[in-house]
Amino acid sequence: MKAVLLGTGTSVGVPVIGCNCAVCRSTDPHNKRRRASLYLQAAGLHIVVDTPPDFREQALQFRIPRVDAVLFTHSHADHIFGFDDIRRFNTMQDAIIPAYADSETTADLRRIFNYIKLEKTPGVYRPRIDFREVSGTFNIGGLIIDPFRVKHDHKPTMGFRFESDGRTLAYIPDCLEMPDEVVDRLKGVDVMILDALRHTPHKTHLTVENSVKLLQRIAAKKSFITHMCHDLDHEATRKTLPDGINVSYDGLTMEW
Ligand SMILES: [Zn+2]
Ligand SMILES: [Zn+2]
Ligand SMILES: [Zn+2]
Repeated sequence: MKAVLLGTGTSVGVPVIGCNCAVCRSTDPHNKRRRASLYLQAAGLHIVVDTPPDFREQALQFRIPRVDAVLFTHSHADHIFGFDDIRRFNTMQDAIIPAYADSETTADLRRIFNYIKLEKTPGVYRPRIDFREVSGTFNIGGLIIDPFRVKHDHKPTMGFRFESDGRTLAYIPDCLEMPDEVVDRLKGVDVMILDALRHTPHKTHLTVENSVKLLQRIAAKKSFITHMCHDLDHEATRKTLPDGINVSYDGLTMEW
């Protein structure tokens, strides 16, 4: 399994437009955060989770060669507004690409991107997507994907647990509260990547402190916080986290 964090920032990204705080002016590349997205290679497949507004630049910078499936956690703008750029992969692969999401997110995607179809439209360059609604565990080839609901906003939001050849990874970029049964299902995964917006409480995101508490209960072999805002300087935050819990950054790559 190979995972690349394409983006680790909150909805406005870091630096924030018009902000002169120390993190937004920082020259540490770890403090440049695009909107949250994950690129996973497993079971011979290339998967992306969410297509943020930065998706085109992420695909270019991190050289994504193909996309066999797109998964969506939810339909907030920072997770979907790069979806149109999937059309380039339709062209390269000369294939329809499946997009997996729950029924509410699928309905939003169909409404917002209402020009997306399965078939080619002569003379017009559009993505060709096969929308697939998910409710329980599903497989893409040899990759087993376990979706589960977490509390985030009023919108239903999913996280995913991936398993292939005994390797596991779970990704939950947007979360306010995690039910106990979800914590139980995630216990002992190889890699756990979880929302941690900032230190101050927020009405839709975990604080660093609450995220760390959940990560300690889940006890993955490696844990990372993501979806961070400009309150969090990479290096300063890194020094305060307990052993085994790390601050992610754009381009962080793991292979195991
Ligand atoms: Zn988000
Ligand atoms: Zn700032
Ligand atoms: Zn969100």
